[in-house]
Amino acid sequence: MVENKETETPEVSKGLNFVEQIVADDLKAGKNGGRLNTRFPPEPNGYLHIGHAKAICMDFGVAEKFGGTCNLRFDDTNPTKEDTEYVDAIREDIHWLGFDWADREYYASDYFPQLFDLAIKLIKEGKAYVDDQTSEEIAAQKGTPTVPGTNSPYRDRSVEENLDLFMRMNAGEFEEGARVLRAKIDMSSSNMHFRDPIMYRIIKYPHHRTGNKWNVYPMYDFAHGQSDYFEGVTHSICTLEFVPHRPLYEYFVKELADETYCPRQIEFNRLNLTYTVMSKRKLLQLVKENLVAGWDDPRMPTISGMRRRGFTPKSIRNFIDRIGYTKIEEAMISVSLLEHAVREDLNAIATRGMAVINPVKVIVTNYPEGQVEMVEMENNPEDPSAGTHSMPFSRELYIERDDFMENPPKKFFRLAPDNEVRLKGAYIVKCTGVKKDAEGNIEEIYCTYDPESRSGLPGSQRKVKGTLHWVSAPHAVDATVRLYDRLFSVENPSAETDKDFRDLLNPDSLVEVKNVKLEPFIAENAVKGTKFQFQRIGYFTPDYDSAPDNLVFNRTIALKDSWEKAKKA
Ligand code: ATP
Ligand code: MG
Repeated sequence: MVENKETETPEVSKGLNFVEQIVADDLKAGKNGGRLNTRFPPEPNGYLHIGHAKAICMDFGVAEKFGGTCNLRFDDTNPTKEDTEYVDAIREDIHWLGFDWADREYYASDYFPQLFDLAIKLIKEGKAYVDDQTSEEIAAQKGTPTVPGTNSPYRDRSVEENLDLFMRMNAGEFEEGARVLRAKIDMSSSNMHFRDPIMYRIIKYPHHRTGNKWNVYPMYDFAHGQSDYFEGVTHSICTLEFVPHRPLYEYFVKELADETYCPRQIEFNRLNLTYTVMSKRKLLQLVKENLVAGWDDPRMPTISGMRRRGFTPKSIRNFIDRIGYTKIEEAMISVSLLEHAVREDLNAIATRGMAVINPVKVIVTNYPEGQVEMVEMENNPEDPSAGTHSMPFSRELYIERDDFMENPPKKFFRLAPDNEVRLKGAYIVKCTGVKKDAEGNIEEIYCTYDPESRSGLPGSQRKVKGTLHWVSAPHAVDATVRLYDRLFSVENPSAETDKDFRDLLNPDSLVEVKNVKLEPFIAENAVKGTKFQFQRIGYFTPDYDSAPDNLVFNRTIALKDSWEKAKKA
């Protein structure tokens, strides 16, 4: 068991996670006048990823559950890294996940005036000072958890001098890095965050909302708690790395709050997923260096990447629900849990169709030339209300090249000379021969069909061991498919600190396959957002690059072990 009380997950009532339990208890006790207000506070310096989804589901979810509200607050305190592109993307992703903040969209930059006033007040009370040292000098004086820090030589400046210098810092008189404003707390505190933390630094870069109005910007620790306070946030839920920041959060908030209302910080364990990275810095690097095709590359752990790949909001929310929230840091959650949730949802909703990824021609020699008949296909066996569609059958077909073997091993139940298989939804066919090119590659497979074996006819009950998917050749529509694999080839790229994470990228994470043969029904319904199951292959969705005359599909995920099963059979 974990010894430290701070990281112990408290006892909870049945059906509630520990955060919900705290909220329930606070509401019951009538704290904050019985109000519940949470917030999700992204910094608009990148796109949201699946880890953020965990925070979003908590922040919005707990508010929904207990009749409270959740604010969206952009934590935009560093203009050099932030951009409106990210603001827009964050909004879109939260909505897509199914949450809404109504008119409660706020920005930390909205509070710059109040924060500045609070800084002035602290200076006047002798609780803050301007330090002229470089960041290296300040760091060198910090000490270690067991060795106290050293006071800055500027720590005992007069209030007048501090006020004058801070105003001039904001007036733009000094260069970046020349001076900072620090809280005067305790250089020997056992909590490193209390060793005169920096409150403001000089940044001379236009802010995406406030332009050139400010030359000083508050640090996270001087902005977050107060922003919560200004907004009326009651429960400020964040991840475990903020546990050591909490006393400082409370220290600054105490300068504002009274006994009627005080925001409270609660921490839960962050999500780390195998075979990917979650650091926005690293994700940005992948984008900037064109190692992926943008933030919404379907291999990225971003919400936008997952959306483009064909994941559903429901599958992401189910996954997050299952992994749960605790105070115990988990090393890694297996990405296969997420993939399981995706398959589960797509199995329930995806429209079934046939596509042949690696085609080889089959000629049904006893089927009349020029004849076409339509066979009925179920759109979704999991959901009879989804109905059926018809698919053409003709003399020339495509099947998967791997579904045929000229010299099969004993338990190969797919197509082979003199072997019978059922073409799903249509007839039983028997292989009678093949045609090869000069190199010995199979060009065409010849079969005969059993005209009695079609559904509704007397021979339809006849059993054969293998069932294959197929597409009528003259009706087939060509498409490109993109097959994705894990972005990294190692389980935990961040753990391999002796290596550059970019060298750990999986070189086979994207395989593009052209001239895939689709049944016409898929082509006709290939609109953005549609979820298909290509029978026996996997779940697919049209990519954003797809156009009616140039169809492109993303494989969202393979059908679990379908090929494995077929091989073993
Ligand atoms: P950085 O601060 O380095 O830019 P960040 O991932 O913390 O990166 P924020 O925009 O500050 O980005 O995150 C917004 C919220 O999402 C925070 O409350 C944070 O705790 C939460 N969050 C971020 N990453 C995860 C994660 N992997 N699991 C759960 N919550 C996360
Ligand atoms: Mg952060």
